[in-house]
Amino acid sequence: MIDLRSDTVTQPTAQMMEAILQAELGDDGRTNAEGKGEDATVNALENLAAKLTRKEDALFCNSGTMANHTALLTYTKRNGRIGVDPDSHIYQSERAIFQKEYFGREPVFFRSDETGRPLLESIDTLPKEKLGVLCLENTFSSKGGTCISAKETAAFCKKANEYNLPVHIDGARIFNAATHFNTSVKVLAAPAASIQFCLSKGLGAPVGSVLCGSKAFISEARKVRKLIGGGMRQAGVIAAAGIEALKRVETVHEDNEKAYLLKSLLHMQEEVFQLNQVESNIVLLNLSKERFSAEAIKDALAEQGLKVKTTAGNQLCMTTHKDVTVRDIEQAAAILNTYFAKIKRSPV
Ligand SMILES: *Cc1c(COP(=O)(O)O)cnc(C)c1O
Repeated sequence: MIDLRSDTVTQPTAQMMEAILQAELGDDGRTNAEGKGEDATVNALENLAAKLTRKEDALFCNSGTMANHTALLTYTKRNGRIGVDPDSHIYQSERAIFQKEYFGREPVFFRSDETGRPLLESIDTLPKEKLGVLCLENTFSSKGGTCISAKETAAFCKKANEYNLPVHIDGARIFNAATHFNTSVKVLAAPAASIQFCLSKGLGAPVGSVLCGSKAFISEARKVRKLIGGGMRQAGVIAAAGIEALKRVETVHEDNEKAYLLKSLLHMQEEVFQLNQVESNIVLLNLSKERFSAEAIKDALAEQGLKVKTTAGNQLCMTTHKDVTVRDIEQAAAILNTYFAKIKRSPV
């Protein structure tokens, strides 16, 4: 079975398991005068993350959702406003921040173009009262893994700064964007006040995300994380795997290349599907709504040995990762080509 549902389906490497066994541990919930916890492995991961993003400090969180929530709760108060793209992961999948019965922040929406690049004019028209932060997603997952360049990020942050607003980057897959531009995450993160990245997506760790920002911001965020149940004790057990995962920064370009390969091997059938641009490790297939059901196609592909994800927009989404080989990609393309040639004649 070839599993392209997400880059979260990977297994930890032997090196990760070894690092877990060897990790030096302490109680990360007990903080010293500098505000750091007592777990040496967590501190090593946080220091490494701060260095990679060139922020002053970092905070290890158990998930990307926890890291984004921690950041947004730190920037705003109840009834405060958060500027997001309506198609962003934060708005679509992390709703507790916006629900009255939970955290009660109000989303206000700026827009992006079709490929997921923010339209700066739409920031001008946002209501600014009680607006505490703007969010930028890089790579932009629902648009098909769009990579936002350093220049585009700087322009977005400059616009935000005109209104004295900090920018938080949801950089779950920022390393895939960095390699796309042949640059570093610190360059992509530089103009923003904070960034979170996931260790458990393309980098391949079993658990975890890291929130990075100024010392003062992270110190506040640490209190917020504890309040919402994100404090962990001997978290070095998972941080150790995270440190190992960060070594993948050097090879994550392979995942993007596998996605480009998949795209290049697909026989284009305009009347059946259209493809996204494929800038990182996500291949999105837009199916003609009238004629084809993504759900039915997903089931049929699974029978042929290929697992894909569907979206609410009748799309098939395939994400490459460390545990699929070039051969798997060739086989996946063959399965898709055979199947699409068949259904072109008799729609499902
Ligand atoms: C996966 C993801 C998150 C959330 O990460 P979890 O660890 O699943 O909570 C946030 N933003 C984006 C863009 C993601 O892809």
